[in-house]
Amino acid sequence: MSEIDAIRTAILEDAGAEDLASLPLPEATRAAFVRADEQEMFADIPSDEKDPRTAIHVDDIPLPELAPDEAYVAVMASAINFNTVWTSIFEPVPTFGFLKRLGKESYWGKRHDLPYHVIGSDAAGVVLKAGSAVRNWKVGDRVTVQCLHVDDQDPSAHDDSMMATNQRIWGFETNFGGLAHIAVVKANQLMPKPALLTWEEAACNGLCNSTSYRMIVSRNGSGMSQGQAVLVWGATGGIGAYAVQYVLNGGGTPVGVVSSPERAALLHEMGCEAVIDRRAEGYKFWKNDGTQDPKEWLRLGKKIRELIGRDVDIVFEHPGRSTMGASVFVAKRGGTIITCAATSGYMIEYDNRYLWMNLKTLKGCHFANYREAWEANRLVGEGRIFPTLQKVFPLAETGEAAFQVHKNMSEGKIGVLSLAPEEGLGVTDPERRAQHLDKIMLFRRHA
Ligand code: NAP
Repeated sequence: MSEIDAIRTAILEDAGAEDLASLPLPEATRAAFVRADEQEMFADIPSDEKDPRTAIHVDDIPLPELAPDEAYVAVMASAINFNTVWTSIFEPVPTFGFLKRLGKESYWGKRHDLPYHVIGSDAAGVVLKAGSAVRNWKVGDRVTVQCLHVDDQDPSAHDDSMMATNQRIWGFETNFGGLAHIAVVKANQLMPKPALLTWEEAACNGLCNSTSYRMIVSRNGSGMSQGQAVLVWGATGGIGAYAVQYVLNGGGTPVGVVSSPERAALLHEMGCEAVIDRRAEGYKFWKNDGTQDPKEWLRLGKKIRELIGRDVDIVFEHPGRSTMGASVFVAKRGGTIITCAATSGYMIEYDNRYLWMNLKTLKGCHFANYREAWEANRLVGEGRIFPTLQKVFPLAETGEAAFQVHKNMSEGKIGVLSLAPEEGLGVTDPERRAQHLDKIMLFRRHA
């Protein structure tokens, strides 16, 4: 039996920490990666025709040396994020520049600067080995991984660590991410695996759930209070479906925007009553001459008033260029537009008069600090936030999984089985699972 098969078997048989620690580690690990010598492969091809399936390879790479503050995690499952898509279409820039910069920082940073980039910013699995400086985690611990990679010896990392000058997203701006059999993570990325979930359900929340927690709940984001109304673009998508849950949990009113009757039905099942099907409404915020159409912003604003009787306090913004003009317009006087992305284009345009005359705030937001990610993970563990997993692919088909996210072909999250041989494994609290099963399976039922 190969070393990795022995590790997998031990985890599946619930071997004790001592048995697990006694197993030899392989010299190489299976991983999904992009290659530096292919970063020009899509030059001159329009973004939506760039195909992650041709850029993502799955093969063995050498297992990197472990730093004292890191752990090897045997990844049972991982997930696709939109940053997997960005990396694999080499947009807005190839990620090898990030790895080069990290490589210049330190001895341990140098390991990351390689001609291949192991991707993936989510994982659930088991600690296989902990570096000498790791205190709170030990071999055998069942964990999920949050993707904030931060240098805790940098003073700038000691207020809100998202403000750290060398803050990075693991598996996007660092190497050795979660789409692998063995991942390398800093100890301060580890969180307890929610016991009520399977490996693949536990692996899909980290990045998107934490991002939405910060954007909606945290004072570092919009700090939504009870009774506020929030317009959520892409409300059944990766981050949007968690945002809707936080608005509902916090006593707010979500107004969810989606692009099909099926997605509208899913939103209703989530408990979101005010739903806008943007395709059925036919909004055309940009005219053919390349200027925006304020009448269309007004039409969206009227639709919101028709649905909830008032304007929204907060807009959860991420499509970017296609929607920002409308988002700034429809937020109420004094409202907040909170943005973490620009899927449709980052050179945005809005009418600044509506922002300043109506005292609105446009606020940038990015992932989450460890504390915020921990709280978001705790809520999943308590069954208060449910995973939005809809489809699952094996590691060998990571390219297809990323392609489907790129093409907006599914709702919620797409998971990836790494060492887990099949779906449905890893639950250690079946009673709590049974209490929340309906919600846990909601997105799967809509597959
Ligand atoms: P996703 O799963 O693909 O969902 C995005 C949703 O947005 C889609 O389902 C789609 O929903 C909607 N959408 C797409 N294009 C649109 C357009 N032109 N106008 C209006 N709606 C549009 O992606 P995700 O995981 O939610 O991520 C969304 C963005 O956030 C990505 O760019 C990602 O990189 C970014 N992100 C940033 C952070 C951060 O920390 N800064 C964290 C997570 C994600 P409908 O078609 O149903 O409307």
